[in-house]
Amino acid sequence: MISRSNLARQYSLEQQRFLDTHPRSRALYDRARKSLLEGVPMHWMKKWAGGFPVFVASARGAYLTDVDGLQYLDLCLGDTGAMTGHAPPDTLEAIHRQATRGITTMLPTEDSLWVAEELGRRFGLPHWQFALSATDANRFAIRLARMITGRPRILVFNWCYHGTVDETLVILQDGVPQMRPGNIGPAVNPVETTRVVEFNDRPALAEALSHGDVACILAEPAMTNIGIIHPDPGFLAAMSDLAARTGTLVVIDETHTLCAGPGGCTAAMNLHPDFVTVGKAIGAGVPGAAYGFSSKVAKALESRIPVSDCDTGGIGGTLAGNSLSLAAMRATLELVLTPESYRRAIPMAARFRSGVESVIAEYALPWIVKQLGCRVEYWFRPAPPRNGGEAAAAVDAELDRYMHLAALNRGILLTPFHNMALIAPTVTESDIDRHSAVFRESVEALVG
Ligand code: PMP
Repeated sequence: MISRSNLARQYSLEQQRFLDTHPRSRALYDRARKSLLEGVPMHWMKKWAGGFPVFVASARGAYLTDVDGLQYLDLCLGDTGAMTGHAPPDTLEAIHRQATRGITTMLPTEDSLWVAEELGRRFGLPHWQFALSATDANRFAIRLARMITGRPRILVFNWCYHGTVDETLVILQDGVPQMRPGNIGPAVNPVETTRVVEFNDRPALAEALSHGDVACILAEPAMTNIGIIHPDPGFLAAMSDLAARTGTLVVIDETHTLCAGPGGCTAAMNLHPDFVTVGKAIGAGVPGAAYGFSSKVAKALESRIPVSDCDTGGIGGTLAGNSLSLAAMRATLELVLTPESYRRAIPMAARFRSGVESVIAEYALPWIVKQLGCRVEYWFRPAPPRNGGEAAAAVDAELDRYMHLAALNRGILLTPFHNMALIAPTVTESDIDRHSAVFRESVEALVG
């Protein structure tokens, strides 16, 4: 349906337009190649469509301005770190206030209690600890689960992403676990530490847990990193049942699914996991993350962690739980990521979805759109995938790259590496309609 030669031609037109309109970003990139590995501060930024990333001048609310003075509607929002919209005034005020009173001290502030109590209300778990990134929150939850259960392995779903956690970098290839391509310098092959099954596959999950060697399942309640994949009705209940019957703990990673509502999917789907981990948006992008757990877990930990060794036990971080992160989290949870903000953002996500769906219908494309709260994603296959393997098989890197660059050249920033849009609470109907028009124009050039 899509001619590859036309796709290549359209991409090269977009590439030229990108070069012509981004001279300052290009100059910074050329300069950066002398001081940064391959010209970028994080190597994955090499993967942005266009050949180099745009350099940011400022970001406010739902908009971002680059060093060439071009403005974008930001639907990437720092891959969820800025789901609140950039620099929300209430969080900014708290940051300014706290910065003048001390940023990090190795001692608790009252904000830590407030945040733990609020996370407890939202996710239904009474005990909380803090980390600096969602990756670390996941790592720490895994370590605690291994210690409590005395079991060596964890279980994840195929094509999950939970940050740079060694144990999670494993996928299924033709049903056989393999190290994920690109895994850099692993200490051990994660196939040895991890069981991996497809999402929504109850028999495979039952079989994997039947060995009795899995400390915890680490899962997003709806997958978001290989497209949005909703759980089949009853799947999460079955997962929790199987876990309870086999003595396996459940860690629910709400870092992205916080898009579903103030208490993520845990609240929206009435889940009762042993742990919840969450990061990115809870401080409006100020580094900070949290992991919560049940009273049963807390009790098991108290008797197992000797105070003499608790500062060197593989869980920590000097800056974790610092006063600035906690002040940002408190203001964000209290005043920004409120139920009202979701009431504004979710209908805009629905409008995005129907805008894209109407273009897909107009051009009879075999594509679908999935929505989870204020997160929306289109995917190049005709029916919703039920698991990571199905979703991964539909990845079309060339088409992705073109759609991203065409959008970027027309003032719309999508999340790179998938076709994901996250809708900030300040996004307006006309912003969404502009995206629909740009999406239509990009498709028209391909298949019109
Ligand atoms: N959990 C999920 C579900 C994620 O998508 C990510 C990152 N995309 C992480 C954890 C890790 O977050 P961070 O890179 O901020 O540690």
